[in-house]
Amino acid sequence: MHIVPEAAIAGLMTRDQSFRAVEAVFASMARGSARNFPVIREALGHADALYGFKSGFDRDSLALGLKSGGFWPGNAAKGLTNHQSSIFLFDADTGQIKAVIGGNLLTALRTAAASAVSIHHLARPDAEVMAMVGAGHQATFQLRAALEQRKFRRVIAWNRSPDRLDRLAAVADEFGLPFEAVSLDRLGPEADVIITILSSFAPVLTATQIKPGTHLACMGTDTRGKQEVGTDLVSAARLFTDEVAQSVSIGECQHAVQAGLIRPEDIVPLGRVIDGGHPGRRAPEDITLFDGTGVALQDLAVAATVLERAIAEGSAIEV
Ligand code: NAD
Repeated sequence: MHIVPEAAIAGLMTRDQSFRAVEAVFASMARGSARNFPVIREALGHADALYGFKSGFDRDSLALGLKSGGFWPGNAAKGLTNHQSSIFLFDADTGQIKAVIGGNLLTALRTAAASAVSIHHLARPDAEVMAMVGAGHQATFQLRAALEQRKFRRVIAWNRSPDRLDRLAAVADEFGLPFEAVSLDRLGPEADVIITILSSFAPVLTATQIKPGTHLACMGTDTRGKQEVGTDLVSAARLFTDEVAQSVSIGECQHAVQAGLIRPEDIVPLGRVIDGGHPGRRAPEDITLFDGTGVALQDLAVAATVLERAIAEGSAIEV
């Protein structure tokens, strides 16, 4: 078996490779070739940690495995990332372990790739203003991948603590784009594309703040009870997701489903759009909303890409 440690990942994976791996696996999921298995996520009762497993299998690529890890809120004080994870890949023909791969950077890259894939397929081609809601660990990854999808001319952003917006301003600067910190009441009417990436349990954006034609990628809600946008906005939008079962149970759509405002059948797997089986956006004035809940198959797809490259370059540790 091979080991690809966390420290080696940055040199092995590009944003473009992450985009292509995630786009391909979303399409496999929509065709029914790839399946995510039920997620386990538990409070450990130790170190305030949440720990779990996400697993799945893609019959097209033969990626089989799991990501194990979770959230240790005390890690930052120890100089470590709060989110910790490792990915295990198995041989789909024999069940033997193939590899253990660091999952921290890959999680950030595959999550950024998911919102980028949604922008690529659902945002208006003439989108010019990119907006970020949230400026935590994930936000810079989401913004970099998003800015590669359209000819954006400006970046605007809001965060509960405005001092953290500097990191997003730096990313905009990397792309040579002007950056402005704005209120939520300005953000909605000015934005063409909005990524929300918050750990929030109450909506921060509602339908009245959003203009027609906007594409939203709601990426922060990945647990029962979390929420980033109002149910009025969800029910006003054309809805897309990575996986419907997760969208209605742990994703942004959970609240509108519970309130009886939408049905699971109203939510389209993004893979159907990628595969050409669904038109996606139908009119320039449509509001499109991608509910990115985060699935195991995204992790396996990027991990398989890394493993292939690490073996080819001779940097995978063989044990
Ligand atoms: P982080 O802790 O670094 O940042 C959290 C962000 O949420 C900050 O911008 C903070 O200001 C904001 N926030 C927290 N509580 C808020 C509130 N009540 N109202 C408004 N803003 C609030 O976290 P991160 O690593 O950037 O992750 C952000 C979210 O994305 C988390 O909920 C995480 O679980 C989720 N996530 C989702 C996926 C996925 O695949 N969908 C993957 C990774 C992370």
